[in-house]
Amino acid sequence: MTTTTSTTEEIKDQGHAPKYTRNQPFHSKVLVNELLTGAGSEKETRHVELSLEDGMTYLPGDAVGIIPENRPAAVEEVLKALNFTGDERVLDHYKVEISFEEAVRTRLAIGKLTRGSVGQFAKLAPGTDGLKDMVGPDNKARAEEYCWGREFVDLATEFPGIVTNPQQLFTVLSRLTPRMYSIASSQKAHPTNVQTTVRVVRYDAHGRERQGLASGHLGERADVGAGIPIFLHANQNFRLPEDSNAPVIMIGPGTGIAPFRSFLEEREALGEKGDNWLFFGEQREQLDFLYKEQLQTMHKNGVLKQLDTAFSRDQARKIYVQDRMQERAKDLYAWLERGAYFYVCGDATRMAKDVETALLDVIAKGSNGTLEHAEEYLATMKKQKRYQRDVY
Ligand code: NAP
Repeated sequence: MTTTTSTTEEIKDQGHAPKYTRNQPFHSKVLVNELLTGAGSEKETRHVELSLEDGMTYLPGDAVGIIPENRPAAVEEVLKALNFTGDERVLDHYKVEISFEEAVRTRLAIGKLTRGSVGQFAKLAPGTDGLKDMVGPDNKARAEEYCWGREFVDLATEFPGIVTNPQQLFTVLSRLTPRMYSIASSQKAHPTNVQTTVRVVRYDAHGRERQGLASGHLGERADVGAGIPIFLHANQNFRLPEDSNAPVIMIGPGTGIAPFRSFLEEREALGEKGDNWLFFGEQREQLDFLYKEQLQTMHKNGVLKQLDTAFSRDQARKIYVQDRMQERAKDLYAWLERGAYFYVCGDATRMAKDVETALLDVIAKGSNGTLEHAEEYLATMKKQKRYQRDVY
């Protein structure tokens, strides 16, 4: 998830209200948490398996919602910057009384700073030098620049003494929200658990070590046996074709592989006859070929008819999945003409756009047509639900 942004809904329990939701999650146990990337990789990508209760069901394309906690060291830093012990009592968003430490750890988004938070914080001490010039529409750019790479602790440290009552933090910070990860398993193959693929985000900014919220939680504080609140989330906009004979083309670089592992396991478990073609990309084959063995086995035994890889940093010139698509343009177009479904998962900012451009080019070349014609062709595919994306 890998975090999905599509219009999704929590999985309905056979038409009834779901038993477990973001507000009432299931207390799952970590069954497996292993590193997929090799020593020396620039990535730390993990495979995580979480237990389910009888009756909790999901389909390929769905997501699992993880309810993370802020890490203890970050909570500690915030309490210190605000000069509170953490034992103070506050009311949470549901007016339930809890300790301030619990609120900072489990209720409040102390991570990435937002302009809204800076504005609310400034309201507590109007006229404060350095803060007043980050408020209002005229100072948008300045506030945005300040927020970049900063977290709440940076603001609280730079402007001490402004939060005088712990309860005020509920107006300054937004609520800690779950993170959605694309499911990487098929329940037909793994009836009692749900699996996902997580890249752990770690970086340094403004002199502090930072971590992704949920990915940090899964990467550092979710050993086998640990408890973690989760819920399942349906995604009707990312589904295998109903026709089990329809060919499927999947473009899934990086953690974008997750739902396609689920698709392939499902089609394998059900013995579906439709052809499958996967394009996978990462930095280096030796270190970053996620699920290499399983994918290569699937390729050998025919579950994957075609497997194309693009390892961007194994040679001087970057090679990406869309370059492989161009190389295979003729066959790709032939698959589309056979009614193939085309799926993309992963980075939304650049990859998904570049893949769409390549796809249009493949269609234009294949049909000896113009770009306009290719756009119409793609629009028809969309209408037929043969072009689906899960990008983040
Ligand atoms: P990624 O960053 O998408 O990298 C996978 C491969 O795609 C690399 O070989 C990369 O090459 C290549 N690539 C870079 N730009 C590309 C482009 N324009 N078109 C096609 N391929 C391109 O993989 P990831 O690290 O697994 O991240 C996937 C997505 O998840 C990103 O949107 C990322 O921001 C997001 N994300 C996920 C998590 C998580 O799961 N916890 C955390 C943070 C971010 P080079 O690197 O050599 O250029």
